Formats: sequence, structure tokens, C-alpha cells
Amino acid sequence: MTYAILVANQSATSCLKVVSFSANAQHWGDPVSNFMNAKHYFPQNPLRAAVGRAFFPGLILLFFAACTEPAAQSDEDLEGRQIRVVTTATMVKDMVEAIGGDRVAVDSLMGPGVDPHLFRPSVMDLRRVERSEGIFYVGLRFEELMENVLEQRKRAGQKVFALTDSIPREKLLESDDGAGIYDPHVWFDVDLWSHCVDAVLEGLIELGPNYQAEFEERAEAYRLQLADLHEWALEKAAELPEDKRILVTSHDAYNYFGEAYGFQVVGLMGISTASEAGLADITRLVDFIGENDINAIFVESSVSPRAIERVARDANVEIGGELFSDALGPPGEKRLDFDVGTYDGMIRYNLTTIVDALR
Ligand SMILES: [Zn+2]
Repeated sequence: MTYAILVANQSATSCLKVVSFSANAQHWGDPVSNFMNAKHYFPQNPLRAAVGRAFFPGLILLFFAACTEPAAQSDEDLEGRQIRVVTTATMVKDMVEAIGGDRVAVDSLMGPGVDPHLFRPSVMDLRRVERSEGIFYVGLRFEELMENVLEQRKRAGQKVFALTDSIPREKLLESDDGAGIYDPHVWFDVDLWSHCVDAVLEGLIELGPNYQAEFEERAEAYRLQLADLHEWALEKAAELPEDKRILVTSHDAYNYFGEAYGFQVVGLMGISTASEAGLADITRLVDFIGENDINAIFVESSVSPRAIERVARDANVEIGGELFSDALGPPGEKRLDFDVGTYDGMIRYNLTTIVDALR
């Protein structure tokens, strides 16, 4: 059965949205939710396509939207006010604020503890995105369920910047899903993450050319701060003997971390948290822990701890602590004396927790 909905937006600068899809009657729901679910039904690789079809049978989407022309902007427009920017994951906010300083007002869509793999924007979130002057996100399909929205905003002429665009492709790790699909968790290699400074800097200069010199100065300071952090992380990791450097966590977020700081990394789930761990995954991990005489495994702040707690029980091993994976902590929160609401503090807290538990 085929349905079509026309949504006329009242704003003069906005336009017509057309959403049409076929659906089994029992799956027919709120058209806005269906619109939000778009990514599930319009996947970009065969595996995801199969998963999408398995979970949402009978619902196929065709979605078209042409939207707001962003307001034209001149340098005079910026006099006496901040550039309005939307960011996705909290690490992105941290970097945009560090380089933009008080010239930008950053509105972060995702808060602490939010899993960006599963984040689905609400109608309010979409408005925040539409009304911003620029959007910064990680990319590499990290914000899986927002990808269509971001692509569509780009086509509508809005300024959209993927931080990982400035990382040379040969430095990225390919996922098991297939050629050309990369692991997005680049921030766990601090040196790799510092490449993203280029994308943020270019984006901010495009949004506020008047402030180019300021942005460049702050970008340079942030690069130096990241270089210090990377050195610190190398030294901290070296406190553990090599055979103790085995990191077991909920999902495959730490592959870049492993490469950079010499850890073997094993995740219960894959690169995304979209599918749950099965019994076979749990058994495999319990065996691995026994064979390798591992002291401790770790839960993650943005992923449900249930499965990893089960592994800990079955393998009779300690939970070494809660690591931050895909989101920073609450702003200003101190753990082990580190401010885990910042990227710098999150990296230091994670590594200290890991080294102390595996010693
Ligand atoms: Zn992740």
C-alpha cells in the first residue's frame, strides 16, 4: 500500500516536504517518526540493508525533502553576536568550542551518556539543525541515524562539516563490513584526532571569515595541547607490560586506541551498538578471557552494561571500571581528579582506569 504526505512548512523561507512510502497497514505510524526512521529503511550497505529489512518488514521508504535556504551571511551580520553552530557527539563540541572560543555559540545535540550510533533526532532537534549556521559532526557513519538528515541539509545549501574528512584515508581502519567502510572511533588515537582540527578550523573560517586569525591561533594551541596529551598517553600505556595490555569492552570502540598505544582490543559487540551481543559472542569472550588470564574487563558509559556484566560473572573476572567510549562525561564532573566532561580529561581518566585495573 502506498501513502504520501505533504507537509507544508509555514515559514516563508522554507518549502515543501514530501514523504511517501509503502507500508503494511500494521506498521503505519506517526509520519514524523517514520521520517526519522529513514536511515533504517535506506541503508547503504548490503549487511545493513538485510538487518533493516529483518527488523522493519514491510516498510519501504522513499523520502524527498527540499528545505530552508540558509540565510545569506555577510561579515557585518556577525558584528556583536556569536555564530550559531550545532554539533553532534560531545567530543565534537569540545573541539569546536576550543577553536571557536567565544565567537561561537555551540548547541550540542547529544549529551553525556548518549549513544551516537543509536541517536535519532527529534522534531525539535531537526529545528535546531535547520536554524543553525553550521553543523559539525564526526562522519564515517558514526551518527548513523542522522546521516540522511545531514546529507539533506548539505543539499539544501547549509554548511555541514565532517571532522573526519580531514584525516587521510590511509590512516583509517577499515571495518569488517566491507571495503571503504571505516571504523569511526578515531578520537581514541589522540594524534589521529588532532587531524580533525583542520576540518573544524576550515569550517569556522568559512562561517566567520572576520575571525580567521583568532581561530588559527586557538587551533594551533589546541594542536599543541593534543600533542602533549598523546605523549602523556604513550607514557601511561608503557607503565603496563605488553602481555598485560589486553582491553576487553562492550563494543569495538577502541581499535584506534589499541593501534596507537599498543593494546590488543576485544569488543563484545561490533563497531556499532545497533545489534545486541548473542550467546555465542558471550561464550567466545568468556573463553578468551580464561585463555589469556585477564584481570579485568570494562563497561562503557554510553552502552548498556548488562552483557559485559554477564561475561564478567561467567568468566569470574572483575569489572575494572566504566570507560567513556562514544560520549564525554557530564560537564565539570571529576573522576580520579580528571574533568571527564572534557576530551583531555576523558582520555586521561580512561587510560588511568585501564592501566590501574590491568596492572
Ligand atoms: Zn561506538
